[in-house]
Amino acid sequence: MEEIEITKPDDWHVHFRDREILREVVPETTRNFARAIVMPNLIPPILNGKQAIKYKERIKKVIPKTDDFEPFMTIYLTEKTSKNDLKEAYNNNAVFAAKLYPAGATTNSDSGVKDIKKIMPVLETMAKVGMPLLIHGEVTHKEVDIFDREKVFINQNLDFICKELPELKITLEHITTEDATMYVNQSNRNLVATITPHHLALNRNAIFVGGIRPHNYCLPILKREKHRRALIEVATNGNKKFFLGTDTAPHFASHKENCCGCAGIFNATYCMSILAQIFEDNNSIKNLEKFTSLNGSKHYGLSKNKTKIKLLKRNNPIVFKKQIKVGNNSISVFNPDFPVYWEVI
Ligand SMILES: [Zn+2]
Repeated sequence: MEEIEITKPDDWHVHFRDREILREVVPETTRNFARAIVMPNLIPPILNGKQAIKYKERIKKVIPKTDDFEPFMTIYLTEKTSKNDLKEAYNNNAVFAAKLYPAGATTNSDSGVKDIKKIMPVLETMAKVGMPLLIHGEVTHKEVDIFDREKVFINQNLDFICKELPELKITLEHITTEDATMYVNQSNRNLVATITPHHLALNRNAIFVGGIRPHNYCLPILKREKHRRALIEVATNGNKKFFLGTDTAPHFASHKENCCGCAGIFNATYCMSILAQIFEDNNSIKNLEKFTSLNGSKHYGLSKNKTKIKLLKRNNPIVFKKQIKVGNNSISVFNPDFPVYWEVI
């Protein structure tokens, strides 16, 4: 049996939600990850340092005693965000980064930004103090095809921000297209990207296998196979500009199996197993650690984690649990539907 040991991973994009969901999903992340950037799109969103500190306290309360885990907090940018508040929250270590959601781009993003130009003074301040900007990179105009929204955002918005503020540290999150890999690769070192396990595992056919598959519906939506291949290439070749952000996003199964199902895939539970399998299948298991544990911390100027995790390749595929119970509800656990032999031990 094969075994590998890697530096404990970090998850640079996670949704923990709040209340009873928070309690059940936090341990699924803290088991295998040492740090995570926590998204601010609660209802209502986390808009300032004070709210971020309170949310961090709620998260810390539900971290199992056995797990050593640090949540990194974010602020949800709106057209009303005050640059002075933001600067203060960053300088006081209340928050680590700010998140830009174009209005309406995904779950709970209604308060997001409609006109990027309106937040340029805030972004200038962030560039000055060195605060990272995290971007959900999709336009939301109805007339733009859902499969083209990332590409159009890059051309219409990201390119503008990068040219105006080349010194701003930007993470283009959960990229899904070959266009994004190319743009990030050609850009200066301040622009990097995160990639999710589900966008590495699946192409858009997975949403429609013998019927509609609500649990494979996420935003940005899964794309064609050629885009998945482009993501695999940059994730598995050790490229420093690309690292893991799972975008693990819990929803009640009843809200996904619905006539208007929610977008989001809950992948925290078997993330590392799935990634190890994908990297091995692409003859790149040696680069798994760079993607999950080294590239991200290096980009954010953090030291790498001191602890390690071990993964063991079993003779038989591991059996995934199907769901996580939350009271009378449940959250479906992501299963990529191919055999996964690697287990975190
Ligand atoms: Zn997300």
